[in-house]
Amino acid sequence: MTTIFNWINNQPAHSVSTRRNDVTNPAKGEVIRDVVLSNTDDVNAAVAAAQAAFPAWRDTPPLRRARIMMKFRELLELNRDKLAALITEEHGKTFDDAQGSVTRGLEVVEFAQGIAHMLKGEIAENVGTGVDSHSLNQPLGVCAGITPFNFPAMVPLWMFPMAIACGNTFVLKPSEKVPSCSMLLAQLAKEAGLPDGVLNIVNGDKEVVDALLSHDDVKAVSFVGSTPIAKYIYQTAAEHGKRVQALGGAKNHAVVMPDCDLDFTINALMGAAYGSAGERCMAISVAVAVGDVADALVSKLAEKAQALKINNGMVAGTEMGPVISAIHREKILGYINQGEQEGATLVVDGRGLSVTGHEKGFFVGGTLFDHVTPDMTIYKEEIFGPVLCVVRVESLEEAIALINKNMYANGTAVFTSNGAVARRFENAIEVGMVGVNVPIPVPISFFSFGGWRNSLFGDQHIYGPEAIRFYTRSKVITRRWPESGMAHANSFVMPTLG
Ligand code: NAD
Repeated sequence: MTTIFNWINNQPAHSVSTRRNDVTNPAKGEVIRDVVLSNTDDVNAAVAAAQAAFPAWRDTPPLRRARIMMKFRELLELNRDKLAALITEEHGKTFDDAQGSVTRGLEVVEFAQGIAHMLKGEIAENVGTGVDSHSLNQPLGVCAGITPFNFPAMVPLWMFPMAIACGNTFVLKPSEKVPSCSMLLAQLAKEAGLPDGVLNIVNGDKEVVDALLSHDDVKAVSFVGSTPIAKYIYQTAAEHGKRVQALGGAKNHAVVMPDCDLDFTINALMGAAYGSAGERCMAISVAVAVGDVADALVSKLAEKAQALKINNGMVAGTEMGPVISAIHREKILGYINQGEQEGATLVVDGRGLSVTGHEKGFFVGGTLFDHVTPDMTIYKEEIFGPVLCVVRVESLEEAIALINKNMYANGTAVFTSNGAVARRFENAIEVGMVGVNVPIPVPISFFSFGGWRNSLFGDQHIYGPEAIRFYTRSKVITRRWPESGMAHANSFVMPTLG
């Protein structure tokens, strides 16, 4: 069986650690390879390589860094199917969904190509008599990224292209459940011309994460994962004086108004709830039915949820693959049991599904609950599986109040044909990313991605313009060139320039 190790200084790096994590194909329920769970020495080696590479990379003209991004983008395009196949193999999502996720990552690389323009500072002449000021945006040094299992290529691509384009060097700690894509990304970055030590990968678990969080030479940490770990990363990294952005979990609501185009809405909700088996941080897990739309909504959703094509994600025409692991499947089934016990109406039951030819796969059928109330566990907790809960309310205002009270605030959407309703929703909703008749409003790469409340800890959202602020620090220079013969004297008062 192949073991995946690390990537340091543009080459594979061994580890003396004997700890391993099994990597499984969730459609088959089989172990396909394993990955090293590295130790603190491996982290020290990767950070040392990144630190050594930093001075030359920082001083590389941004335009030259951008040209490497251009080449990297071409290689991503050429290797999209290879990356997508690895995603389907290790994560389970369908091949075309995986291809789409690679494209969304590639778009961040496209945005990073404009880095020379985006790094420009500001200048002001005559801020005082004969005095001018300008600002510079300079890279921080070594940055670290810690990523989740559900987007093996896209989430790493949310982080390192922007960090590197800004002139930083990077150490990535991918999810130990899906390590292969990151290794291929690093090889492609090398092929694109990225110098040794600029991008490094240390595979592992908490031991690696903790070593990164406390390492003196790591200046900033980007994290994407579940809320409890995001909170831990935010607190620990901040305690060690690092800049940190930690994106957490979600419970995304879609409000369905009686005036919506119902068939359009049903199709949008099906993809958003059951696509990627519900394992997206922007998945819709709650449909809030306003007024008398509820009965028609539930019966049409039920019909479609029962007809979902569930199979190995490599089989053409598959709409939904398995969930990530046997443990995660058990957790999801436990939530379905609890929903029933707490009194929700189980309209479509995804328990007990077996896929012919894949009997050992980690499959859960599309599940639909109606009459869910905010006190139920299935409403309060992130299930991260193919389970859609319908909550019935009387008005738009009641829907807005419900969403604004939820502990998560990543994404949300409203389905309506009324502009005034949409405008009220956009204005009053307290959530980071909002869709109007768009179920998964993941911002394009030239905006930034981030939720509010427990869906993001830190000040800056990820990728887009906020990434420039996160991965650089500004320096303001104030300068005067005294002319000879100019009057001057000792001054012991706070300098004023006028
Ligand atoms: P996770 O929090 O379990 O793991 C994320 C990363 O943290 C992994 O690299 C893992 O190795 C590491 N980790 C896990 N436990 C740790 C610990 N105790 N100490 C230090 N590091 C630890 O998340 P996951 O299960 O891989 O991913 C699913 C979660 O990620 C869901 O909650 C989902 O909503 C969230 N997510 C959020 C976004 C977003 O943009 N907000 C995007 C994708 C996924």
